[in-house]
Amino acid sequence: MSIQVAVNGYGTIGKRVADAVTLQPDMELVGVAKTRPNHEAELAVENRYPLYAAIEDRVELFADAGIDLAGTAAEMVAAADIVVDATPSGIGAENKSLYESHDTPALYQGGEDADLVDVSFNARGNFGAAADADHVRVVSCNTTGLSRLLAPLQEEYGVEKARVTLVRRGGDPSQTDRGPINDILPNPVGLPSHHGPDVNTIFPELSIDTLGLKVPATLMHTHSVNVTLGSTPAAEEVRDLLGEQSRTFMIPADSGIDGAGALKEFAMDRGRPRGDIWENCIWSKSVSMEGSDLYLFQAIHQESDVVPENVDAIRATLGTADAAESIRRTNETMGMDL
Ligand code: NAD
Repeated sequence: MSIQVAVNGYGTIGKRVADAVTLQPDMELVGVAKTRPNHEAELAVENRYPLYAAIEDRVELFADAGIDLAGTAAEMVAAADIVVDATPSGIGAENKSLYESHDTPALYQGGEDADLVDVSFNARGNFGAAADADHVRVVSCNTTGLSRLLAPLQEEYGVEKARVTLVRRGGDPSQTDRGPINDILPNPVGLPSHHGPDVNTIFPELSIDTLGLKVPATLMHTHSVNVTLGSTPAAEEVRDLLGEQSRTFMIPADSGIDGAGALKEFAMDRGRPRGDIWENCIWSKSVSMEGSDLYLFQAIHQESDVVPENVDAIRATLGTADAAESIRRTNETMGMDL
């Protein structure tokens, strides 16, 4: 029997997770829920995904727009083995009682507070921790990128201290109401940004300080990373270690990829859906050692790096595969080949 997966919230993250679920041989998409009949609701219909109304009072709006519904979100949850909640920050917390009333385990996204859930999740960092949990949070795009980077460094060399400056995109391409415009904001001005404490939900003992900035860009985030390691490997050795990870893309020094724009072009040229880049993009040339201090730059595609993590979190929570098997299956079906 394949795992019946419902996706509540069919926006930036939800539509990508729904697509990824349909690629999994061990999963079936019960349907997706939307609040209103906009172009994304039409996309769900075009994709033949059963569409449910997230808010009961709005059922008529869908009928007025000529969109057939399969039912309400409550009916979708009742039919599912697990729900992926991909609603805007804070709405997941409001939906928690719906999932509890149906005894259906739920995955939430990084916009929710860590204390909403039993466990925060990253496949490379703590896959096993989600086993049998009822409420699991797939950490944010930035925390996912940092967890994937820090896990192998911690295992191989030990991490004495990580210091990361995150240059964050002001909004996603479709978020017309976001900024800043023509400005560069320390955000937050005080330390730490929320990312360091968030990494500690995956690695409780890891010493990490993070600073954040926001810039008028939409394509990707960029991290400037300094990690004091427990030993002094050569830069080449660290480069090889990071390159062996299955969700990293080591940007070749001679590729001409000099920023987020070129990375997106690269992904679109290779037929990636929506130009998505699920991997951490690490500039090979930036990987440098000064004594025991590692330095590097990585770019993170905020709209897509959490998508394979959601797929893995489904198996981790229901206990249907171990970390290696789940990651292998997800990578293979999604075509994670960079
Ligand atoms: P989004 O606004 O693009 O999509 C959210 C969708 O949920 C929209 O379609 C909206 O109509 C729908 N929705 C609103 N209220 C709802 C309700 N009560 N029930 C069902 N659906 C409802 O948001 P997003 O960017 O996909 O973010 C979703 C979550 O993922 C947030 O927690 C966010 O912090 C997190 N996240 C976002 C990004 C990113 O860069 N976009 C990256 C990682 C994690």
